[in-house]
Amino acid sequence: MSERVILHCDLNNFFASVECLGREDLKGKPVAVGGSVEQRHGIILAKNEAAKKYGVKTAEAIWQAVQKCPNLIVLPPHYDRYVCYSRRVRTIYEQYTDLIEPFGIDECWLDVTGSTKLFGPGEAIAEQIRQTVKGQTGLTVSVGVSFNKIFAKLGSDYKKPDAVTVFRREDMEQLIWPLAAQEMLGVGSSTLRSLQRIGVFTIGDLAKTDPHTLRLILGKGGETLWRFANGLDLSPVSLSGEEPVPKSVGRSTTTPRDMKTPEDIALTLLWLSERVSRELRANHALATVLQVHLRDNKLNVTEHQRRLQQPIRLAELLRKIGYELILEAWDGVTPLRSVGIRAVGLVHEDESFQLCFSSDYEQLERMEQLERAVERMKEKYGKDAVLRCRQLSGGKLEQHLAFKTIVS
Ligand SMILES: [Mg+2]
Repeated sequence: MSERVILHCDLNNFFASVECLGREDLKGKPVAVGGSVEQRHGIILAKNEAAKKYGVKTAEAIWQAVQKCPNLIVLPPHYDRYVCYSRRVRTIYEQYTDLIEPFGIDECWLDVTGSTKLFGPGEAIAEQIRQTVKGQTGLTVSVGVSFNKIFAKLGSDYKKPDAVTVFRREDMEQLIWPLAAQEMLGVGSSTLRSLQRIGVFTIGDLAKTDPHTLRLILGKGGETLWRFANGLDLSPVSLSGEEPVPKSVGRSTTTPRDMKTPEDIALTLLWLSERVSRELRANHALATVLQVHLRDNKLNVTEHQRRLQQPIRLAELLRKIGYELILEAWDGVTPLRSVGIRAVGLVHEDESFQLCFSSDYEQLERMEQLERAVERMKEKYGKDAVLRCRQLSGGKLEQHLAFKTIVS
């Protein structure tokens, strides 16, 4: 059987590169993209090569970055643009294969084994992709070419930006094994600590360790890492993230009685945002923009929207932001007949896991799990089985997310 030809394509400094497109004034200057620039907790989401030279790091606080690099230009993120460019680049990849597996918004694996007769060897395809992406979008991409996904990914990291690296099977011992173990996909910081304790520092060390030992200290994943290090990764380039997300998801309702108070609106929104949230989850999507519309009893329609700091789908956040938007758009006096909430600028959850990078990430993750658990209970016991405290008591609006189970 002939070797597979796998490419890993990684757009370089993606968010920062997109922000710098067409901005001659930013050329050569240190630029970073920061989440919630105006807020205390803003963190660096991405930086360009010039900022990297000053030691600016992704995920550090903006104020720390500015200490290291006083002329750092910090720009707010534009998720819709990133999604747009990510899709444009993907259509370039699609000219070479339909076996494409996205890994975050700026990386993809491509299996081009079947395309080499048409387009030449993997290296030639990688070179064509590198040039086409640059020519058509102005962005640069680094491409790794190898016979499995793990080594292809190591390749795209090996030389960047704007470069192609080929790792052949015969290059393994000389080029791949000297690399630090943490360079390899699957070796996170806690795994790394366990490995270092038994004297494993490089990918070569890992490859030469007895897989049973690795299993003992790392569990089943230890054997997987051993296989990866020995070039035995057989996992296919899967078509995950194939199904396109819908353009938008929305719900609106006309209430039996006009809504006259903020509390009336809040309760209606609670109900709507849970439905929108559930549909987003079913579509593996998150929203980057939230819209509301209101119709008053004189049938005037008002619309209002906000670009979000990060993609969301939590019912609690949809409700909270939707409520703020409605209060901004409503005169507070004219009774409302109907309200609606719509999630737009949707991104696939695979694309958004990098976008969600925020200091509150862990809390958001916990809330996501909580909401999922509640949905499962509703499926099992009926939709009224779990109500929020607020629905039971009409309690305070900003009270913390809390659920009361009325299933005995
Ligand atoms: Mg990248």
